[in-house]
Formats: sequence, structure tokens, C-alpha cells
Amino acid sequence: MIPAMKYSHAPRCRACGCRALLVRDTAEALVIESLGRLEMVECPHSRGGWHVWAPKLETGYART
Ligand SMILES: [Zn+2]
Repeated sequence: MIPAMKYSHAPRCRACGCRALLVRDTAEALVIESLGRLEMVECPHSRGGWHVWAPKLETGYART
């Protein structure tokens, strides 16, 4: 499955505003695919879960 499809099928993390909760490999693949527009951040609420976000487009997501 391509990363974008994994993203849309991923469970949502309610603690992080319903962001997609990803495994590290998928998050990394999305960061690479985004050509630097996305960054990955480990979910502070779900051990081993990762989120991707666009720091230039989004606000309010504190890095940990
Ligand atoms: Zn989260």
C-alpha cells in the first residue's frame, strides 16, 4: 500500500486532534514523499505512534 493510502486508513489519535496515528515507517515514507513539507513527530500519547504535520501550514501542534 502506498503511504498516502496507509495515511487515510490509519486509526485516528483523538488526543492529537484526530491526526492519523502511523507506524514509524509510514511516517518516514510520507515525509520523504512530501519533499520536506511534512515533518514527523512522535505521538506524546501513544507509545510507538507517529504523526506527520506541516509546520509551515499548521499551528498549534507543540513538538515534544
Ligand atoms: Zn497522537
